[in-house]
Amino acid sequence: MASAGLPFDNSYARLPERFYARLAPTPVTAPRLVKLNEALCRHLGLDPAELASPEGVAMLAGNRVAPGSEPIALAYAGHQFGNFVPQLGDGRAILLGEVVDSDGRRRDIQLKGSGRTPFSRGGDGRAAVGPVLREYIVSEAMFALGIPTTRSLAAVTTGEPIWRDGELPGAVLTRVASSHIRVGTFQFFAARGDAEALRLLADHVIARHYPEAKESAEPYRVLFERVVERQARLVAQWLLVGFIHGVMNTDNCTISGETIDYGPCAFMDAYNPETVFSSIDQQGRYAYAHQPSIAHWNLARFGETLIPLLAEDGDKALAIANEVLPTFRGHYVGALIGGLRRKLGLFTEEEADGALAQDLLNAMTDGRADFTLVFRRLGDAAADPSADASVRGLFQEKPEAFDAWVARWRERLAREPQDGAGRRAAMHAANPIYIPRNHRVELALAAAAEREDYAPFEELVAALAKPFEERPGLEAYAEPPPEDQRVYRTFCGT
Ligand code: AMP
Ligand code: MG
Repeated sequence: MASAGLPFDNSYARLPERFYARLAPTPVTAPRLVKLNEALCRHLGLDPAELASPEGVAMLAGNRVAPGSEPIALAYAGHQFGNFVPQLGDGRAILLGEVVDSDGRRRDIQLKGSGRTPFSRGGDGRAAVGPVLREYIVSEAMFALGIPTTRSLAAVTTGEPIWRDGELPGAVLTRVASSHIRVGTFQFFAARGDAEALRLLADHVIARHYPEAKESAEPYRVLFERVVERQARLVAQWLLVGFIHGVMNTDNCTISGETIDYGPCAFMDAYNPETVFSSIDQQGRYAYAHQPSIAHWNLARFGETLIPLLAEDGDKALAIANEVLPTFRGHYVGALIGGLRRKLGLFTEEEADGALAQDLLNAMTDGRADFTLVFRRLGDAAADPSADASVRGLFQEKPEAFDAWVARWRERLAREPQDGAGRRAAMHAANPIYIPRNHRVELALAAAAEREDYAPFEELVAALAKPFEERPGLEAYAEPPPEDQRVYRTFCGT
């Protein structure tokens, strides 16, 4: 890798010019590397020392276009809070190019916050250090939790202030994704009646993400089936860790099935299915428990774009789309129930398991119990019933509902094969102890933005890198927020 170059191979930039705009990132005055993800660097086959060198940092800041990079801003459309916008596009992001990682998988390398593009509309094309670090923290936490996600390779401050509510330090995130193709990318061409582009895009996606579809007599049907399945499983995984995306617009819904665009996202502390954090989601459209139905809605929009490809006859095409879309429910429920069983230490299947899990969740809602800690401590209780008290103590109200529930759970566990220690280990591998709790995230972002103190950010990132492994010294990261640090609203990354 000479002179901090990357072994680029840019398949998206070989698609027709109407898929993107070609332009370089806008240089910044004083780039400074504040975080480099060395493990991810190595996974991508890149040398961390070279990326951290002045030339490498210049590339990560958008000041230098490395050899082989063909920078482009991608065109896409999208439904934002239900309203269709025919042209969004990368308004503050530039795809530098693609590299093939050590697993042989193609990865986009994208700068976010790298200046204006033809898709910027009214925006400045920039990002503030807080939202950049939030995306870094939460995306890497999701990865460590085993949830499909875009990743964060680096964060660079620009030395330039940007204006939001007040003046904030500017920053650029380097994001890595299996692609940046969204439901909104298909909508962009569907809205223009550009069937040729739709076919090229679908073929590109099949080659890149779903090569098995190519072998089928109905490749576009298989494409739709696979995307429905991946999104259904993804949203189940979100629910199983208490994650709320916050802005599930169709432009933030990937075709790869990776979580993307960490804006006003957050993890719940106390369990409540109606939880909403995003300050811009005033109707609660994207509340925790609404996420499956919204994912389904987004996939219906995806299916509509595929109509011209699914069959020559329009009625036939519609019938195919209407056969595939309902498969969402089975994938979603299967993934959710399977995940809940693992969270409860159940490795055999019984009909009533779903109701058992739901009754615990209901008791948690009534008791305002901490979602993450209830499941984590249930793992301890699985090995040692005297630990029940530590779970019970998490129910701020009606703890007797937990008492009734735990007796039923024990009856159910009696029909499971493992011993207590084995069950505890299995449950701890399914129930994280460290999640990116909002109050911790806020403290880390404030220290970075207000005092250029990156130590809390580094500590938090390190804790979250092994979310299932309890370690001494990290107790504070497992704790729910004290009353005065509780976060009720999160603000968009823009
Ligand atoms: P998001 O809510 O981050 O998914 O962004 C929605 C759309 O707004 C995308 O097209 C973004 O590129 C664009 N956008 C967000 N923030 C900015 C900004 N500061 N400057 C230009 N475009 C932006
Ligand atoms: Mg977006």
